[in-house]
Amino acid sequence: MTERTPPTRLLKNFRLVDGSAAEPRDGLQVLIEGDRIVQVAETAIEAPHAEVIDLGGRTLMPGLIDCHVHVIATTADLGANALLPDALVAARATPILKGMLERGFTTVRDVGGADRAIQQAVAEGYFVGPRLVICGKALSQTGGHNDYRGFFDERDDQYQTRRLGSMGRICDGVEAVRRAVRQEIKGGAQFIKVMANGGVSSPSDPIDFLSFSRAELETIVEEASNAQTYVSAHLYTDEAIRRAVEAGVRSLEHCNLITAETARFAAERGAMACPTLVTYERLKLEGAEYGLKPESVAKIDDVRLAGLESLVTMREAGLEMAYGTDLLGEMHPHQSDEFVIRAQVLPPHEVIRSATATAAKLLRMEGEVGCIAPGAYADLIVVDGNPLEDMRLLTGQGDHLALIMQGGRVIKERLSR
Ligand SMILES: [Zn+2]
Repeated sequence: MTERTPPTRLLKNFRLVDGSAAEPRDGLQVLIEGDRIVQVAETAIEAPHAEVIDLGGRTLMPGLIDCHVHVIATTADLGANALLPDALVAARATPILKGMLERGFTTVRDVGGADRAIQQAVAEGYFVGPRLVICGKALSQTGGHNDYRGFFDERDDQYQTRRLGSMGRICDGVEAVRRAVRQEIKGGAQFIKVMANGGVSSPSDPIDFLSFSRAELETIVEEASNAQTYVSAHLYTDEAIRRAVEAGVRSLEHCNLITAETARFAAERGAMACPTLVTYERLKLEGAEYGLKPESVAKIDDVRLAGLESLVTMREAGLEMAYGTDLLGEMHPHQSDEFVIRAQVLPPHEVIRSATATAAKLLRMEGEVGCIAPGAYADLIVVDGNPLEDMRLLTGQGDHLALIMQGGRVIKERLSR
């Protein structure tokens, strides 16, 4: 399925917006060879054999990065999703993946569910979708955020470990979590995800539950560090966030209820946050309709109402924020709405940076994705208009994108219209 090597291309006549500055940058040219950007210059690039692409004064941006997705979440009823046959989950994941790429997300980090097989199917071109960074199954304790069994379901707790439709797996105790991390790493996980706090979509864990003991969290971090990677944790409450940072967790998901003091502490320790406000807005509006259980609907406002304030708190504390969405099932088409939500309280270029350079930093892929620079993958989008002035240009289903390129391959092109 691998396509032939893309031709050499020269991009000109555009304004660059990459989130590094409050204003677009004019007068650049970009040379692409194969899957990489090879030259970015302020003067005309000599490339007589290159195919010249005139972007017509539009905005060139690095391909977007979403650091918190679940591509196997084909419905908001995650317990039901975990029981679906793998083939059906994979089939239903394909339009989810394609939709993300069409919205301009050329790289996404899956924080629970997607496995090496899905990742490879995308890399080999069988599935059309973003470059996938995976953690395999998220780790959850019994009764934690990935335990969907509820009060009266006594099934063996390992039933979901090997199901594609399950976001996570259950493990309890220091040696069990150690083994679970090693199994996920062996299976191709590039980082480790842990559910360290109660959650909305799970039946038996109120938001303020602390999940896993300190010793378990430290063991998970130790094993991830041994494998030269990091831990991402599902977190809402200040107490849970502080405890996770103390244990060495680097990627702090959600963070809706964080205080200024803990945000400063997290920043000092080199942690980064990944808020996902759009999911609570959509769950509030559509969750019940799309399968979210009533006990989960009742928990949404516990985290939703603090969302915008948490962004301001984290910015003032110097805690870097990457772009995340965490959408489930039919709600995936709202993936780009997070830009507009954040721009209510944050400067537009910082919101864009969350999905470019800051996201790349969180993924430890700086210089490879999230930038227009020599050596980076030729992952880019071209926008009709300036998203720094109107963030809605990034929303919808890629409606305002005139070009999407991933690894030098043209995914979409309507420059001539
Ligand atoms: Zn999530």
